[in-house]
Amino acid sequence: MENNKNWRPEFDKPLVIAGPCSAESEQQVLSIAEKLDPTYTQVFRAGIWKPRTKPGMFEGVGAVGLKWLQKVKEEFKIPVATEVANAAHVKEALDHDIDYLWIGARSTVNPFTVQEIAESLRDTDKIVFVKNPVNPDLELWMGAIERLQAQGIKKLGAIHRGFSTYKKTKYRNNPQWQIALDFRTKMPHIPMICDPSHIAGRRDLIFDISQQAFNYEYDGLMVETHIDPDNAWSDAAQQVTPDVLLAILKKIELRKHDDVDTKYHSELNQLRQSIDELDKEIWDNYSDRMKVAGKIGQLKKAHNVATYQSERWNEIFENTKSNVSKLGLSEEFIEKVLQAIHQESLDIQNKILND
Ligand code: PEP
Ligand code: MN
Repeated sequence: MENNKNWRPEFDKPLVIAGPCSAESEQQVLSIAEKLDPTYTQVFRAGIWKPRTKPGMFEGVGAVGLKWLQKVKEEFKIPVATEVANAAHVKEALDHDIDYLWIGARSTVNPFTVQEIAESLRDTDKIVFVKNPVNPDLELWMGAIERLQAQGIKKLGAIHRGFSTYKKTKYRNNPQWQIALDFRTKMPHIPMICDPSHIAGRRDLIFDISQQAFNYEYDGLMVETHIDPDNAWSDAAQQVTPDVLLAILKKIELRKHDDVDTKYHSELNQLRQSIDELDKEIWDNYSDRMKVAGKIGQLKKAHNVATYQSERWNEIFENTKSNVSKLGLSEEFIEKVLQAIHQESLDIQNKILND
């Protein structure tokens, strides 16, 4: 993959993109931009065309908002960013010299849309970000980046905004950090920006998610910021004021990639050794457990009994859950691990029954 992390001279300072979910009026964007602290915020964002879940909601002010973004750029000497979702948007955005463009989560899912945007941006010098698709599909996210690269676009970035779930979690969009971390392993030269606003869906979680992003060495943040968040025309619950944003940014601790200190390294190595030993023990235990599951499979086969027994599953699940607080592990973790163990046991038993 091409090395294009260098479109920004230094990534040791996070890139912070802030501004409202939607541009609402010229006065609104100007008053927000005026309040952003330029030492902490480098790019101004505002949505002009808004993809909404249901019809009848506010769908953005349209191209007139691009003129307001131009004013922001002139008055406050800050580059501006907006979302584009088709070739017509791209044309308008380029005509108005918008500096950063992003492909939204609802567009990244559609290869036709991404291809259309990529072709209309062919060889552009603009910076283009790709938000993760709403569904947890790493290949689709990387595929969008590849479509842009294939059109000669070099200044690229990824935005992690979380993934939709049917079952509601505490987040509006479940972060599933592992997907973004895998993205970074596979495309290490693409800067990774966190969008805590769309992950959270509510402003009280913005700090924790942002800090988590920097614990993972992300390159920056995109935070929805509004002068009057409660009365915003879209995404009101998740927007913060410029003052709150500044307080969040000042509180965030940036992490180093490593430390040369030898005491740190020897301690780390010891702890990692403990982890390796414990992991070995855990895997040996899993292996023993699965051998027992296999014996149960043989027994069920001899008696022609079905493999899945819901009462037994519920019993294991409830017993383990009641130990959770004592063990200091989250219920979510226990549930995931138990489900994986149970599935493996069933697979082993089904194989025996089918033989
Ligand atoms: C946005 O940034 O306002 C937006 C619509 O985000 P997403 O594409 O992540 O839903
Ligand atoms: Mn929004």
